[in-house]
This record gives sequence, structure tokens and C-alpha cells, in this order.
Amino acid sequence: MALRSTLKNLRLKNLNFDRYANVLGYFKYAVTSSSVVSLPPFVKIVEVGPRDGLQNEKEIVPTAVKIEFINKLSETGVKFIEATSFVSAKWIPQMFDNAQVLQGITRKQGITYAALTPNIKGLENAMKARADEVAIFSAASETFSRKNVNCSVLESLKRCEDVMEMAKINNIPVRGYVSCVIGCPYEGLIKPQKVAEVAKILCDMGCYEISLGDTIGVGTPGTMRSMLMEVIKVVPVDKLAVHCHDTYGQALANIYASLALGVSVVDSSVAGLGGCPYAKGASGNVASEDVVYLLNGLNIQTGIDLNMLIDAGMYISAAINRPTHSRVARALRHCHL
Ligand SMILES: [Zn+2]
Repeated sequence: MALRSTLKNLRLKNLNFDRYANVLGYFKYAVTSSSVVSLPPFVKIVEVGPRDGLQNEKEIVPTAVKIEFINKLSETGVKFIEATSFVSAKWIPQMFDNAQVLQGITRKQGITYAALTPNIKGLENAMKARADEVAIFSAASETFSRKNVNCSVLESLKRCEDVMEMAKINNIPVRGYVSCVIGCPYEGLIKPQKVAEVAKILCDMGCYEISLGDTIGVGTPGTMRSMLMEVIKVVPVDKLAVHCHDTYGQALANIYASLALGVSVVDSSVAGLGGCPYAKGASGNVASEDVVYLLNGLNIQTGIDLNMLIDAGMYISAAINRPTHSRVARALRHCHL
């Protein structure tokens, strides 16, 4: 008797709930959307430590250490390593040994060893050193573009086009970066429409993937979502990657928000290598170890062995004589730094 009345009550409640939810259509939607967030089953990690990470470290790392670092990363299961950049050593002294690094590493089958190439000369040198693919970059902020590469966004895209044309002739895949997709150190908040515009140009030009960089790490899941929603209107989501910096401690939350929108490529840097020139003392790229830990916890495959990744991070942190920025590495290795 008691059971029957409970069931009746429950049905009544459900009925009322349904009717109520129908009246408040948005409420029903909120319940549905929050409980059915589908995440990608596999995420490709783009390890940018040897390039983006080391480029922003003060210590100039010896070539042999860079080679050993990349060899260690190659054993972790990561499938994409941005190994170096072919930028003038006058501007980026840290990458002076780009060709020696690419020629000195032990290449593992199935891994892409990429290089950043801002111009034709860079591309030529990268090809000579047998880079598997290259990356070009632009920005969503006019002022950042002028201060960083001394030209407007459109002019920087024109340079990208020249590199792209030559890469196409040589069958080299090209990845595109857009910096300052959320905020700019000079202009403040960046309009999502501007990001979408630049991303679409890079996509139309022939970039197989566009990496959206929160260069100064000011994004939150809210601003990331607004930005991505705008970009997804003009570039297919399976062509997008996110590149989050952890300046304000929001990187993992931002990555989760991106996964929930269907993004399945994440740039990260082992040990959180790289600083932020616009926020003194701030951490740089989100740590790959922390991203893999997050993804493991969500049952999302990466093919990466977390312990080996931590080893690679510990190796490079010791070599540049600074503590790891990976919270997971610190916790699992009981480092009290
Ligand atoms: Zn970065």
C-alpha cells in the first residue's frame, strides 16, 4: 500500500515536473544540456614544450639536452612534437640550433616532428632539416601583431600565404596559429568575430588545423566558449585546437569547456615550460601532465603514458634548473617545491 502511494506520488511529481518544465522551456533545456555533455573519445595532444616552452625560458638549453628531451618525449606515446622553430637566431637565440636538433633526434615512427616557420627562408631550412610539417602564425590583435612581427594582421596573413604556397608544392602539411584569441596585453579583450575572421582565412588558405591560442592566459570557460562558438560558425570544429596558457589558473577549465564543444586537439607543454613575457613570474603553457591526468579521469584516450611524461618533464626541469610547473608531477613525485 505504502509503495503504491509512493509510486503514485512520484508519477504525479514527474507529471507536474514535466508540465512545469514545458512551460519553462529553457529550464528543461538546461537540465538536458547539462546532463548530456558529450566529450570526444580521443584527444590529440600537441606537445609544444621543445619549441614554445623552451623559447620562453631564460636559460639557453644545450643542443644535446634538447635532443635528449625530444627523445624522451618520443617514448611517452605522444604523437605530435613541435620540435623547434626556424626563426632568425637574432630574434630567438634559444632556437639557434634548430637544424642540429631536428637532425640529431631519434625519430620514432608515427610521430610528427614539426617546426614553426614564419617565412619562406624558415620553411626552406625546415625542409632541409626534414621537418615533417610546419606551422605559421598570425594574431587576432592588430597591436600584438605590430609589436610582435612588425606588421598588420592582414600583412602577416600574406606572409603566411607565401609559406603555404611553397609548402603545398612540397607536400608539407601546415598548421596555423592564432595568438591572443581572448585577450591582448595592449588591446584588452578581443572580439570573437575577429578570431573567427583570422581562423577562417588560415583555414581557407589550406591549414589542416588551426590552433587558437590564449597567449596571455586570461580566458575563462565563459570567454572561451563565446570565442569558440563564433569560430565554429566558420571553421569545422574538427579542424580546431586550443592552446591555453595558465597565467590565471584557468587553463584546465578552459580545455574542459573546449572539449564540451567538440574540440579534440589540445596544445600543451610538459612541465608547463615557458613563461609569459606579459605577466612576470606567471606560468606559461598548461602542463601536459596535468592535461593527461584530466583526460584520464574523463576516460578520454590520449595514448600517452603519464609516468613517462612526468619523467620527461622532470628531466627538462632539472636541466634548466627550475621546478616543474605541473601540479600532477609535483603531487605524484612528492616534490615539495
Ligand atoms: Zn604557448
